[in-house]
Amino acid sequence: MHGRAAVVFAQLVTLGVNHGVHAFYVDIRDEDGRFLPGVGGEDDGHKGGLNGIDNGRLHFTRVRVPRTHLLDKYGHVAADGSYSSPIASPGRRFFTMIGTLVQGRVSLDGAAVLANKAALTIAVRYGSERRQFNASSDVQEEVLLDYQQHQRRLLPRLAETYAMNFAHQELLDKYDAVFSGREDTDENRQDLETLAAALKALSTWSALETVQECREACGGAGFLTKNRLTSLRHDLDIYATFEGDNTVLLQLVAKRLLSDWADEFKQVDVGVMARYVAGRATEATFHRSGLRKLGQAFRDTGDVRRSVNALREESAQHALLTDRVETMVAEIAENLRPSAKLPRAEAAALFNENQHRIIATARAHAELLQWEAFTRGLAQVEDPGTRTVLTWLRDVFGLRLIEKNLAWYLSYGRLSMRRGRSLDEYIDRLLARLRPHALDLVAAFELAPEHLRAEIATGIEARRQEEAAEHYRRMRASGDAPVKERGPRREPATAGTGPEGERTAEEAKEERRKERRAEKQAERRTERKHERRLELKPRKVAAKRAAAAGSAEDPAARAPEDRSPADAAAETAGAGSPAPAAEAAQQG
Ligand SMILES: Cc1cc2nc3c(=O)[nH]c(=O)nc-3n(C[C@H](O)[C@H](O)[C@H](O)COP(=O)(O)OP(=O)(O)OC[C@H]3O[C@@H](n4cnc5c(N)ncnc54)[C@H](O)[C@@H]3O)c2cc1C
Repeated sequence: MHGRAAVVFAQLVTLGVNHGVHAFYVDIRDEDGRFLPGVGGEDDGHKGGLNGIDNGRLHFTRVRVPRTHLLDKYGHVAADGSYSSPIASPGRRFFTMIGTLVQGRVSLDGAAVLANKAALTIAVRYGSERRQFNASSDVQEEVLLDYQQHQRRLLPRLAETYAMNFAHQELLDKYDAVFSGREDTDENRQDLETLAAALKALSTWSALETVQECREACGGAGFLTKNRLTSLRHDLDIYATFEGDNTVLLQLVAKRLLSDWADEFKQVDVGVMARYVAGRATEATFHRSGLRKLGQAFRDTGDVRRSVNALREESAQHALLTDRVETMVAEIAENLRPSAKLPRAEAAALFNENQHRIIATARAHAELLQWEAFTRGLAQVEDPGTRTVLTWLRDVFGLRLIEKNLAWYLSYGRLSMRRGRSLDEYIDRLLARLRPHALDLVAAFELAPEHLRAEIATGIEARRQEEAAEHYRRMRASGDAPVKERGPRREPATAGTGPEGERTAEEAKEERRKERRAEKQAERRTERKHERRLELKPRKVAAKRAAAAGSAEDPAARAPEDRSPADAAAETAGAGSPAPAAEAAQQG
């Protein structure tokens, strides 16, 4: 089956003037499905995914299109060839015309959210049933989702998906307000364009990574086509490119941020700008912002550096995320300031020198929008238990963003080294709290089996595990269970006498190596303690010394938040018993 007509976007040139891209209705095939004269086309063939949709390309050579086939809501050509439009500015007309395409981006954002929900429902259900390796018991293996690393892989993705979901709901509201005509203003259209570009870029990238992570989290079963994840991943691949390539879209977002910035600071002198970049501007400096209030961070917390004392505080997370976006925008604006007076090629080169930072800034802004949408969504939740769990989830989302950009926060002095170090541990604690709610959190997506179409999400693994466990229970009860094979018994031998003696000499060497390693570890621990003391204020050090007199050299005597992960690891190693996960890995 072939289409007989197409809507073709092409340049409209009349009476020697190019009025830019317009949409034309063009007949392309006759009733028998053959191309009309001057029209040609080819199929795109087999693609990397999304093969349920047919794609191809058309080309036109001297094809005549009647004047009346111009889709002329925004531009009309009269019989004498004269052009008229209700929108005088060519730039605004172009953006209004392609603005209708925003619905493609809105839909892709929604599709990416849904893909994440499906993939996570599959992986969390499977991870709650599948057992691997005897870490804590001889008779029962561990459930995958009880492994900390499995929680690290899936639960932050779940948090991100909730953030994407709340942001998508707000995007739909904005879309409805504009396209229903209720709030169809220029500014709202621009906001909608920017929001759709920002969210589409982040959500489609997230979907690619999330589906892949879920695929791997389901092991070999995740690779089977009947379990959906591989084909979902293939179909989603192109989402990062079509309806606007993500990298290009983020540059549009950044452009809007920079023009908001320019509007904001039109009246402000360079000295004020420089102070702002250094993060010392006061609320009085700004008065308005296109997408959100620039001064919010400072109003909420008084001072960014002080606000991080409690990272789990909503206002502290907001302050940190907002401050990063503002500082990045301010820096780029400052870098690009000379471009207004430069020749075009030099201005383009200057922009190019900042392109990576520009895209990173747009991304940070989009992440902030997602965090804000999640937080607004939380405020609507009435059930206290649900709100508590969703608050942990929102915190995981916010703190992971800060953790991902920890180098920035440390190098700009927004977080202390000590606070930065505690982040990782705090996130792990939140994930452990969320673990028992993981199944409920994916159940809330309300995806039925016909949506998931994945055998491993049907409970089949739980039944298989139960069957196997029952089999071994019966064997143990009947006394037929096989016993474990014992290792060979070692005979005592003298060093240097025969093969047994050589082995013992090797063992002695190994003993000495172990001792040297232990000594080095102890030295490193002492050095680290010394470095930490240098970081602390002298008064604090004195207070600590007094409090811990007699046991100051023992890391275990310090408060848990003062003990570095290296200390804890060294203690575990020193105790001689491998952690359960490490033991499981050895078995694997
Ligand atoms: C299956 C499929 C269906 C499609 N359907 C439609 C459709 O229905 N309608 C339609 O109009 N189009 C459609 N497209 C086209 C699609 O929108 C384009 O492929 C997309 O916009 C990217 O353009 P491009 O392929 O020319 O890539 P390019 O623009 O050549 O980009 C290639 C790479 O260069 C990077 N890049 C490009 N410009 C810059 C820059 N300024 N700075 C930094 N990096 C840059 C991009 O990030 C990308 O990674 C479809 C494409 C596919 C594959």
